[in-house]
Amino acid sequence: MATSIRSTAPYTYSVNTLQQDIEKLANFFVDHPRLVVLTGAGISAPSGIPTYRDRHGAWQHRSPIQEQAFLIDEQTRRRYWARSWYGWPLIRDALPNPAHHALASLEAQGRIELLITQNVDSLHQRAGSRNVLDLHGAVGRVRCLTCGAIHCRESIQEQLAGDNVWPTPAGHQPRPDGDMETPDALLDHLVLPLCPLCGGDLKPDVVFFGGSVPRENVASCHEALARADALLAIGSSLMVFSGFRFCRLAAELGKPVALINPGVTRADALACFKLSSLAGPLLTGTLNYLHKDTMRRPSAPGSPS
Ligand SMILES: [Zn+2]
Repeated sequence: MATSIRSTAPYTYSVNTLQQDIEKLANFFVDHPRLVVLTGAGISAPSGIPTYRDRHGAWQHRSPIQEQAFLIDEQTRRRYWARSWYGWPLIRDALPNPAHHALASLEAQGRIELLITQNVDSLHQRAGSRNVLDLHGAVGRVRCLTCGAIHCRESIQEQLAGDNVWPTPAGHQPRPDGDMETPDALLDHLVLPLCPLCGGDLKPDVVFFGGSVPRENVASCHEALARADALLAIGSSLMVFSGFRFCRLAAELGKPVALINPGVTRADALACFKLSSLAGPLLTGTLNYLHKDTMRRPSAPGSPS
């Protein structure tokens, strides 16, 4: 039997069955024809990319690379590139999962105004989503800090492979941004990758922790939210301000915020409801439910057949 724990109105934390969650989410799509969707690491976890935080919002790994440390400290850059050499293939070879595919289909139906993702794995684009804003960049791109040229991450992998000797990984644990635990001994002799055009230092085209999301990206998100009817956040604890701020903005604009996440999120108090079903089955089921619902409805007089 379904139950629903009611806290301060209007927030409810759903512990319903998958079918009940599907109906609730499908109704949310119908009631709010233009949605902004915000996704986090949880949506890519079934693709084999680990999340940063557990269901209570606590860190699962040693603290990630900090933006400022990467820019000023060569040892931090060595640590990043060494770990990234081992971790990159995990991101490169990961495949979109049913949640990515369902969102691409929902976008194709005109139901999604903008898909904002906190992920750097580009799996939404690979699933076919077109209107995607990579809030924290994409780890598949590398930017030269001197001339600004953008390079393909795979070409930098070849450069790292040619300039260094890489011991066979043993017991390395993959991390969400393609980073991986690596023995410190490797770092002392590591030859850093350099820009093939100007010899400048390189940085993955991502916003590390402590860095700022480009202002124009934030502005694009604000404009999309202003046009949209509601916000749906999926697979994120929203502990990082760069994502949480859109939930706060939606609430300030009087637009409903719905959450799909198995654990605690920073936006729980702002949400009209939260669903705990897994995103893949939930979004796929919602897509099918909406399709059947459209089939059931009679065409309006004069509408194209
Ligand atoms: Zn350059």
